[in-house]
Amino acid sequence: MRVPQLPVPQPGILEIALYQGGASKIAGRTNVVKLSSNENPFGPSPQAIAAYKDAAGDLHRYPSTDHASLRVAIGAHHGLDPDRIICGAGSDEIIAFLCQCYAGSGDEVIHTEHGFGMYRISALAAGATPVEVTEHARHTDVDAILAGVTSRTRLVFIANPNNPTGTIISDAEIARLADGLPSHVILVLDGAYAEFVDRFDGGAGLATKRDNVVMTRTFSKVYGLGAMRIGWGYGPRAIIDVLNRVRGPFNLSTAALAAAEAAVKDTEYTERCLAQNAEWRDWLRAALAEAGVACDVSHTNFLLARFNSPETAMACNGALNAAGFLTRPVASYNLPNCLRITVGDEASCRKVADTVAEFMAERIR
Ligand code: PMP
Repeated sequence: MRVPQLPVPQPGILEIALYQGGASKIAGRTNVVKLSSNENPFGPSPQAIAAYKDAAGDLHRYPSTDHASLRVAIGAHHGLDPDRIICGAGSDEIIAFLCQCYAGSGDEVIHTEHGFGMYRISALAAGATPVEVTEHARHTDVDAILAGVTSRTRLVFIANPNNPTGTIISDAEIARLADGLPSHVILVLDGAYAEFVDRFDGGAGLATKRDNVVMTRTFSKVYGLGAMRIGWGYGPRAIIDVLNRVRGPFNLSTAALAAAEAAVKDTEYTERCLAQNAEWRDWLRAALAEAGVACDVSHTNFLLARFNSPETAMACNGALNAAGFLTRPVASYNLPNCLRITVGDEASCRKVADTVAEFMAERIR
């Protein structure tokens, strides 16, 4: 009997472990506070919500293909040339375009030890080989990256500040990395959390000057529009042109485009969210330290809480769940003794601190 041949996926695809998003439910509980996906606890600007609702009248029309209006608004806000901006369904899509266009079979894509999970997934999806390099005490290590470069390297992804560590490296270190890479290797500076850093351009300056540096950004974090799936990339014209060739013509919905444009223009709302985040993030870090739980200084909207063992981390996660808080175990990011905790509003931060303090006191007793 002839054995039927089954369809076979492209090499690399079956090596992809499904991306684990932050949990959004606790069994048997309503009233859950989600602190597992680094979302803005205050939601988006009311103007973004109004723009989203307004788009309901046009649901039968295809959206803009060139996203010109949003690109102009982003360009005006950041002082960037809109022609060098590409918008995607989340910055995830820009990461995927970069891998699809610049890395294939036999090519290597570098990411760091605790780097964002989509770098590996997108590299494998493109048939390329992800290469993990070490970090130094939860900080991006430029020397380790440079040592990891081979003749097959095509892309280097770093998030600055990084997720899930919350740490940042200096502009001088980033420039040293860019200087050290061969000119055919693209350095991707993922600025998903760049807004949380005062007077920081997320790498835009470098992406303006170099032929091989791209910056990615998102509307999912401080702008509170994760559900809408809007991100963007900025870089050399030649690279943006390449990425646009694989971009679906209607990759962003009219509602998403409208909401993002309103959000980026409502700078007053963004400033208020940033101020709240900075205040309560630093308060929570001090409160956790007081309870005996150390966190690196965070340059983002989350803290990475370090425990003395994976068991303690998971037990504290359980205690937080029992108190109605969803936090993020990060064993899949090579950080099994840590929990990533999004900075919520004041009430959440106070209750998280109390819960962790009680948990730690119980442990010691
Ligand atoms: N980069 C980093 C570092 C992130 O943390 C995230 C979201 N968790 C993304 C990119 C992707 O964001 P989005 O696709 O929602 O724009």
